[in-house]
Amino acid sequence: MVVNISDLKFSYRSGTESLEVLRIPEWELQDGGRVAISGPSGSGKTTLLNIVAGLLVPGEGRVEVCGERLDKMGEASRDRFRANHLGYIFQNFNLLQGFTALENVLLAETFSGKKAAGSALAKELLDRVGLSARMHHYPSQMSIGEQQRVAVARALANKPDLVLADEPTGSLDPKNSREVVKLLKETAAERGVGLMVVTHEREIAEAFEQQVLFLDVNKAFADAGGAP
Ligand code: ADP
Ligand code: MG
Repeated sequence: MVVNISDLKFSYRSGTESLEVLRIPEWELQDGGRVAISGPSGSGKTTLLNIVAGLLVPGEGRVEVCGERLDKMGEASRDRFRANHLGYIFQNFNLLQGFTALENVLLAETFSGKKAAGSALAKELLDRVGLSARMHHYPSQMSIGEQQRVAVARALANKPDLVLADEPTGSLDPKNSREVVKLLKETAAERGVGLMVVTHEREIAEAFEQQVLFLDVNKAFADAGGAP
C-alpha cells in the first residue's frame, strides 16, 4: 500500500476557532495505483494532498505513506521523506524561473537522498516528456503546457514512489490538459509510481482506475470506484 489512512480528522485552527475540513474513516491506494480526486472548491482536496505529503499533520488519525507513519514523524523527517519518496506538481508556479528545464529537473534529483545519477536520468525524463530540444530553455521561454511537462519530468527525478498533482491542468487548454494527464499516467505506469491527481475535469477523472469524490464541503468523502 502506498497510502493507508484511517480514522483521520483534520481541522484548521485560527485563534479559538476550529474548522474541520476532512474526515476519512479508511482509505488506501495500492502500490502503483492511480487515483483521481475531484469535488467542489473548498472541499479539502489540497488539504488531503498536503497530509499525504507530510506538509500538514492531522489532529487525529493514522497516515501511512510508503510504509512510513507520517503522523508520528517530526518536521525534519517529513521533509526528508518528501524529498526521497514523493513528486509534487502544482497548477502554477511549478518551476524555478532562474533555472533551465534541465536544471529544474536536476535540482529535484539532487535534493533527494538518493545517489544522483548525474544528468542521465534528468535528460531521459525530459526526452520522455518530449522536450529533448528544450533542456536549456528557461521557463519563461516555454509555453505553460511545456512547463507542465517539465514539472512532470521533475516530479519523477527523485525516483518517487508516489506523485501528487494538485490541479495540474488548471492553467491548460483542453488539448494540453489531456496531453499532460496522459503523460503523467503513462510515465507513472512505466515506473510503477503511485499517482494522486486532483482535477475538476470530469473527463479526466473518469479515465482513472480509481476515483475519489468529495461530495460536498461537509466532510463527505466517497471512494467512487473508477474506470473498469
Ligand atoms: P480544495 O483544494 O478542495 O479547494 P482546500 O483543501 O484548499 O480545498 O480547503 C478546504 C477548506 O479549508 C476550505 O474551506 C478552506 O477555506 C479551508 N482552508 C484551507 N487552508 C486553510 C488554512 N491555512 N487555514 C484555515 N482554513 C483553511
Ligand atoms: Mg485546492
